Amino acid sequence: MNGEPNNLNSNHLTSIKMVSAMYNKEIQTGSSQKILVVEDNQDNRELVVKVLKINGYKTIEAVDGEEALEKTKTEKPDLILMDLFIPKIDGYEVTRRLKSDRDLKHIPVIALTAHAMKGDMEVALAAGCDGYMPKPIDVRELPKQIEYFMNTHGLSATTKDEGS
Ligand code: MN
Repeated sequence: MNGEPNNLNSNHLTSIKMVSAMYNKEIQTGSSQKILVVEDNQDNRELVVKVLKINGYKTIEAVDGEEALEKTKTEKPDLILMDLFIPKIDGYEVTRRLKSDRDLKHIPVIALTAHAMKGDMEVALAAGCDGYMPKPIDVRELPKQIEYFMNTHGLSATTKDEGS
């Protein structure tokens, strides 16, 4: 346990049902962009992956910080969804390391956490995250938010950065 709620609440189950319905229709809205989903909770990870696939994204998965670093280096994803509370190396530290690597720092990192408090958001941004999404994931909003971060990255980096 790493201190975050893992229970399947009614919202979550509704989301899964919705996603399953969407998935069966095999909606493909294009984009072959590749997203790395870093999340140690299997239910959360599968939900996010399903939503992304429905929306035409390729997905890669990592269940801890070491795997996240490894797969970022080998797969060069276009965007990373980063659970901050993961085993081995936490999401804050993974993000710090990615953002100090000249070959990887350009990849947008969006923090995912159930701890939707102002302080956590500030720490996430200070670690180098480019954006922030609260959990539980809103399956309707997620694709819009992904698209937004894909499109605005580079502009949104103005608050930090030493010129990439
Ligand atoms: Mn977690």
